[in-house]
Amino acid sequence: MTRLVLFDIDGTLIRTGGAGVHAFGRTAELLYGIPGVAERTHFHGRTDTALVKEFFLGNGLQGRSWDVRHFLDAYVFLLDQRMKEHPGEVCPGVPEFLRSLRSLPEPPALGLLTGNIQLGARIKLGAHGLWGDWACGAFADDHEDRNQLARIVRDRACRLLGRRLEGPEILVIGDTHRDVECARAIGARSLGVCTGGGSAEELRSAGATRVVDDLRGFPVESLCVDPA
Ligand SMILES: [Mg+2]
Repeated sequence: MTRLVLFDIDGTLIRTGGAGVHAFGRTAELLYGIPGVAERTHFHGRTDTALVKEFFLGNGLQGRSWDVRHFLDAYVFLLDQRMKEHPGEVCPGVPEFLRSLRSLPEPPALGLLTGNIQLGARIKLGAHGLWGDWACGAFADDHEDRNQLARIVRDRACRLLGRRLEGPEILVIGDTHRDVECARAIGARSLGVCTGGGSAEELRSAGATRVVDDLRGFPVESLCVDPA
């Protein structure tokens, strides 16, 4: 039975139309005078911290922890501005899916497993009324490696629930092969959704337990059944 469901944000819960990418590119341009970064960077499924470090390294800049912090502070400011102008949309079926999960007889804990820094996640989800009500989360502030984030949020959930969670009791939902890979890193099952960056083929070949076009009409009762 599924006791913990972990959600990716971009392309899974919401689509921001590239607000994060835009804010990232603007930050690089405003702070360091380097244009075109958004176009040259592959963002899907990566953590904010890893992206900033790659930016410093690739441009011969010093990427001390203070520099990374400075970049991310400007980034969230610009992200907030961008989200106010272009909030994007909630992915199809997400509100119903969350409601159905919460009304199960024994609802699983719901958490976030995202490459966004926490404040970025809050800005993006808050714009759609989806911030709050998460039992736990792991963010790019916690670690730059997504697989480590999966371990961190699993351990947080275990402390919260007061018991050890076995891999098959955890379901990770995401739109890229990186979500599937981090699920596998903790022995969890994964549900790939084709509402963001990844194709069904990409998600399947990464080893997703199941792939759906989107979360509309997903039979949440199936999560109550013991995994085979
Ligand atoms: Mg995503």
